[in-house]
Amino acid sequence: MMATPCSLPLQPMFELIVGPMYAGKTEELIRRLRRAHHAKRHVVLFKPEVDNRCGEDACTSTHNGDRFPAEIKKTAREILAYVLEHDVDVIGIEEVQFFDEEIVEVIHALVYVHRKWVIAAGLNRDYRGKAFGPMARLLQEAFEIYPQHAMCSICGQPAYHSQRIVPAKELVLVGAKDAYEARCTVHFDQDA
Ligand SMILES: [Zn+2]
Repeated sequence: MMATPCSLPLQPMFELIVGPMYAGKTEELIRRLRRAHHAKRHVVLFKPEVDNRCGEDACTSTHNGDRFPAEIKKTAREILAYVLEHDVDVIGIEEVQFFDEEIVEVIHALVYVHRKWVIAAGLNRDYRGKAFGPMARLLQEAFEIYPQHAMCSICGQPAYHSQRIVPAKELVLVGAKDAYEARCTVHFDQDA
C-alpha cells in the first residue's frame, strides 16, 4: 500500500507550554512548530507587539539565539483575522500572556469552529506569583499542558518562579533581560 503523506485529518487541538522565565518555553514551542512543518502542515507563529526581543525583524528568537519567523499582532482579534485570510493549519502563539483577555475566545474559536491546531507558550505566573493575564483561563481551555522549569539562579534547583530583581511596579517589563531571575520556591520572594 502506498503511503500518502499528510492524508490524516488534522485533529483540532490546543496545547499550552507554561513556566517561568528562562525555562525554554520558546525553544519547546519552536520545536513543536518545526515538527508540524516537517509533517507538511502550514504553520504560522504569532507574537504580541510588546515582545521586541527580535528588534525590527518579524521573528521570534529564544534566549539561545534560535530564530523562527513570526507575525507580530497587537490584539487577539488580529490573529483570528490573519488565520481566516491565510491557509494555516497550525498556529503558534508566543508570549501568549501578553495578549488581551479575548485571546481565550479567539483560541476557542480557532479550535472548535475553524478546526485548527493551536500551540501557545506563556508565563503562567507573574513576578508576584499571580496568574498572568489570561493564563488561568487558558490553562482551563488547554487539552495538553507542558510545564517547563528553569534552574534557580541561587541554588540550581528546579525553578518555577520569575523573580524581579530591579525595583519597578509595572507588571510588564519586556526585554529587560537583567530584570528577572528564575528562582526555586525556597529563593522566591514575591514581595521583593
Ligand atoms: Zn533556589
